[in-house]
Amino acid sequence: MSMRLLNTLSGRVEVFEPLVDHDVRMYTCGPTVYDYAHIGNYRTFVFQDILRRFLKYRGYRVLQVMNLTDVDDKTIRNAQAEGLSLRDYTQKFVDAFLVDRDLLSLDPPEVLVRATDHIAEMVKLVERLEQAGFAYRSGGSVYFRVSKFKDYGKLSKIDLSGNLAGARVDADEYEKDSARDFVLWKAAKPGEPSWDAPFGPGRPGWHLECSAMAMTYLGETFDIHSGGSDLIFPHHENEIAQAEAATGKPFARFWLHAEHLLVNGEKMSKSLANFYTLRDLIARGAKPSAIRYLLASVPYHKRLNFTFEGLHQAGKSIERLRNFRFRLTKEEFPETANPAIDESIRKAAQSFEEALDNNLNTAEALAPVFVLISEANAAMDGGTFPLQARAACLNLLDRWDRIFVVLEDCDHQKLQQHGLLQDVRANSGGTTGGEEADHANGSPAAQVPSFTDAEIEKLIGLRAAARRGGNYAESDRIREDLLQAGVILEDTKAGARWRRK
Ligand code: AMP
Ligand code: ZN
Repeated sequence: MSMRLLNTLSGRVEVFEPLVDHDVRMYTCGPTVYDYAHIGNYRTFVFQDILRRFLKYRGYRVLQVMNLTDVDDKTIRNAQAEGLSLRDYTQKFVDAFLVDRDLLSLDPPEVLVRATDHIAEMVKLVERLEQAGFAYRSGGSVYFRVSKFKDYGKLSKIDLSGNLAGARVDADEYEKDSARDFVLWKAAKPGEPSWDAPFGPGRPGWHLECSAMAMTYLGETFDIHSGGSDLIFPHHENEIAQAEAATGKPFARFWLHAEHLLVNGEKMSKSLANFYTLRDLIARGAKPSAIRYLLASVPYHKRLNFTFEGLHQAGKSIERLRNFRFRLTKEEFPETANPAIDESIRKAAQSFEEALDNNLNTAEALAPVFVLISEANAAMDGGTFPLQARAACLNLLDRWDRIFVVLEDCDHQKLQQHGLLQDVRANSGGTTGGEEADHANGSPAAQVPSFTDAEIEKLIGLRAAARRGGNYAESDRIREDLLQAGVILEDTKAGARWRRK
């Protein structure tokens, strides 16, 4: 079965094939590094990660370019307020983004680039547009003449005859010939960072950054371009106009857009102050793996409402998956035949792949694995789970986890590595339920005693030895120490199993 994706350009689900061989070239709009990204942003980045993982799963090579928007009104304003250079100010948030990316198991793109490292390419693109008659100078800035580009509106299907309600209106842009024209190059303002250009000192417009960087690394026509749905207009519409006006060739073939993460029915965004950063949720005891699972659990083209209850359920689903794998690896099974289980495994594998082929339907890719888990668990409890099904189940889980990446319990280790463990509240008990959408800023972070995985394994070994020797006081003490450190022990037929709260 071939992969099908919803292309915003055509408005249809289309069969996806790369332009060249098995090489997928894709551009993804990255974060604006003026602050910590919120989990709405990460919904889009998780979708892009699942997309690239599944493309690879299907045997494609992926060349993904992601930009870091490190110059715009917000980055400049904040850097000035802190008395830092643009580079020094934004570096902190670039670093934070890289940490978040690791916590959420987002594969690094092949190319991650800062806009301010590509000013020369942007200036060249403006020159090309001037030569082709699509750009004009006014008041030291350069603008794109929208009326000259006949295809304008083909992505967003925007009707230009009416007013442009909802479009971003830039106070700097009062010298435009037409309200719908947009800025390519903004004239330098006193005290703001600027770069020299043949058309006068200034800085690039946001849309220009992406067109120039995409074409630098991926060529004039490439396979996939994506971002959140708020970028369709004007950002992506303008990217198309700039690139196609300059080259006369199609820019991106497939445009994919993630629908928004909502809070109480409204888009999670900085301006509505209804957002959580990853760190906010970690400070409330949430596990990055549960956040990843939650963000992935609803198909990317559908809205997802964030709730703490949903996050709690995501954590529970991961536990179920991990417990199942634990049973599979540790328990003993009879050498019997059980065609019903064989059939469940086959069906789960098939529906998981079919669901992802079908426009990355992650919800339907999750469900069949849980059906299998219920059936297999029942067979295990009844002693009818066949030994030969063990390998097939493990194989399925491994393949499934190449996309979802939640089976290994790496949260603790990663939080520790990034110095974020002290943020975890001792009494959190995993994710908290049903809290108000306020921010965790005021709550003091409690220090949690912590053990490494190796130390936990060692203590469990000592506890088992104490129990074998009849020293139950000692074994209880070890269990209590572990509990204090947030490690829960569970004695199963297959031995003690532990997990972090
Ligand atoms: P920004 O840092 O604002 O440039 O946004 C980075 C990415 O996050 C873009 O692809 C946005 O479309 C996306 N984004 C912003 N808010 C949300 C949201 N609430 N849900 C999903 N994606 C979002
Ligand atoms: Zn962009």
